[in-house]
Amino acid sequence: MIRSFSLLAAICTLALSALVCAAEVTVLDNATLIDGTGRAPVATSMIVITDGRITYAGPKAEGKVPAGATRVNLTGKYVVPGVINLHGHLGATKGLIQDNVNYTRENTLSQLKIYANYGVTTVVSMGSDQPLILDLRAEQRKTGRPWEARIFTAFRGFTGPGGYPTKAPGMKGVPFEVSTPAQVETALTELASRKVDLVKVWVDDHLGKEQKIPIDLVKVIISGARKRNLNTAAHIFYYSDAKALAEGGLHGLAHSVRDKDVDAAFIASMKKSGTWQAAATFTRELSVFVYAQPPKWLDDPFFTPSVSPETRATLKSAAYTKNVSANAENMLYKGFLQTAQKNLKKLADAGIPFGFGTDTGPPARIQGFFEHLEMQLMAEAGLTPQQIITSWSKSSAQWLGASKDLGTVEAGHWADLVVTAKNPLADINNMRSIEQVYIGGNRVK
Ligand SMILES: [Zn+2]
Repeated sequence: MIRSFSLLAAICTLALSALVCAAEVTVLDNATLIDGTGRAPVATSMIVITDGRITYAGPKAEGKVPAGATRVNLTGKYVVPGVINLHGHLGATKGLIQDNVNYTRENTLSQLKIYANYGVTTVVSMGSDQPLILDLRAEQRKTGRPWEARIFTAFRGFTGPGGYPTKAPGMKGVPFEVSTPAQVETALTELASRKVDLVKVWVDDHLGKEQKIPIDLVKVIISGARKRNLNTAAHIFYYSDAKALAEGGLHGLAHSVRDKDVDAAFIASMKKSGTWQAAATFTRELSVFVYAQPPKWLDDPFFTPSVSPETRATLKSAAYTKNVSANAENMLYKGFLQTAQKNLKKLADAGIPFGFGTDTGPPARIQGFFEHLEMQLMAEAGLTPQQIITSWSKSSAQWLGASKDLGTVEAGHWADLVVTAKNPLADINNMRSIEQVYIGGNRVK
């Protein structure tokens, strides 16, 4: 708070009884610019940031340095758009415990700062929020220049009475539990009055163990949301649910189809309604089985700042790994991950638009680091670095309806971007060479 105030105040002067504020201008010089449009990179670029927004991004030879600009020499570095994560959860998890007593300003801001340190400049919180999120979002949007990842929120999502995921730890009472169109209307009216950024619904029986909301009621949610100019994202698992919801006009799938391969009929349904694969969330599947043995990356210096030493010790402990490996059902998720990866590649090849999302935030789905694991798993699924970068920038902003302000590194957008030492177009894992992160032109790392 004080930081941003002094930054703005420093360049204001009192002239002729009027307060005159000169623009705050930063020029990022000489980097290779990968702008998120999918275009070829610009080898020697200039990016001009004026009061937090990009006013020029392109070849250095065609740019002009405004008077009084602060210049940052990025020779040999790469500038990439900040990551928009279309599926996260904020506030409720501390260490490895998910519980709404954890949902404090301090905990939520600390998670948003961790996201930012890893280059995630926007996160969409998918339906598990408390009213505090709306206050934090309002504070961020007052200036448009937060010092932590930007918040978008579905506030509270929908499920059926006692439905998935209300039995998950810390999730009781979090979603709206609806069984009639009238209840849907009441909840949607509340969500619209709170100006949510989207609507979320969970459509799953958790491998037959829990109650799934009826598809017809989900269609009532989708159409009621649309009447209020709100888009709906759905947690799905099964092919049949995803296809039926695409036919019902769903805006985006918040997970991959994991029970079987998608096919031409599925693709046709998505195309007809303009339904996106908004978030593939491969790391969600990974998180269910990966801790059966302590993964090597628990000792990676790129991982360690994302969790406390206690959490890292727990994840490495024999008790924890034994608990994961003893549950045979957890191992099914290796197959679900493979199916998800095949399906994203198939959808991408068929021209279905896709964004980027991880489902980080619940216990052991590590915010910040897992976004980079997701990139790796997307590459392993057969997507090119260019496709992956475009998914988290241009495409995710478009799906959110935020393309006017966010997404690519182009004039008019907030300067939400990442500086890396190595070329992510050569290998997407080079995103781990992050050196600087900017949000609304504020250097947050
Ligand atoms: Zn989720």
